[in-house]
Amino acid sequence: MEMNSSACPVCGYHQFKVAFATKDYFFTGKDFTVNACIKCGMLMTAGLHPGKDLSVYYKSEQYISHSDTRKGIVNRIYHLVRNIMLRRKHRMVCSVSGLKTGSILDIGTGTGYFPAFMKSKGWQATGTEKSEEARKYASEKQDILVYDEEKLFSLPAASYDVVTLWHVMEHLPNINQHWQVISKILKPDGVLIIALPNVKSWDARHYGPYWAAWDVPRHIWHFSPKHVKELGKKEGFRLSRTMRMPFDAFYISIMSEKYKQSSFPVLKGMFYGKLSWFASLYNKKRCSSLIYVFRKIS
Ligand SMILES: [Zn+2]
Repeated sequence: MEMNSSACPVCGYHQFKVAFATKDYFFTGKDFTVNACIKCGMLMTAGLHPGKDLSVYYKSEQYISHSDTRKGIVNRIYHLVRNIMLRRKHRMVCSVSGLKTGSILDIGTGTGYFPAFMKSKGWQATGTEKSEEARKYASEKQDILVYDEEKLFSLPAASYDVVTLWHVMEHLPNINQHWQVISKILKPDGVLIIALPNVKSWDARHYGPYWAAWDVPRHIWHFSPKHVKELGKKEGFRLSRTMRMPFDAFYISIMSEKYKQSSFPVLKGMFYGKLSWFASLYNKKRCSSLIYVFRKIS
């Protein structure tokens, strides 16, 4: 059975059509198809049946969120930007939750930089992470408690003020179950913060199948702002805010230029990244990545 013969996570419909073909440009070079739900238009990578072992697609040393390498100019830029983003995320969590400190769970935390930063600001911060190597790094170098991903489903109810998923939800095969367990572990007035690539962004349209944030097959789900909102509603959440994540346009555009094998990918990527960033100033919904803030419907 293919995942695409099971239900659409947003509307529950069972029929899909081919939207376009792309590749795993990042790692294996394998061909993949992105399908669209016939009823609601939700995009998803085809051929990934539930339970399929995708770990082979995560083995690249370049997968920086996991292996923390500093090789190459793109990764160096990434590490610089990360420090700015950590401060920005902390401010944002405090602002949307209305709390100076509290309890926070970061799902898919990678090497644990974000919970470590939150902990340094007085938050009770933990994470979950699938990769054993990344978990080890987080506990040894960051002094952060990081559970394996299965532990998420046995955490106590109503125990977190904030749950975050920074570019993680697009990777999760059992996406509806994740929304349900998040609803369980959040306090009644808790906040769910999700960052996702935006398929309606300026850079997604500009790069088409070369857009680096398709990132197949690691990205299973490809969200537009409309589909994120609808999925949240289906799972008992209300979208309370949407915010821009403007730096992603640069990184994604540089990677997309590399996938196109263009000459001077960094210069061109910076140029088009800037155009995308500019477009998003006028229309938030054209931003490369967006941050969604959800609250439970009581
Ligand atoms: Zn659908």
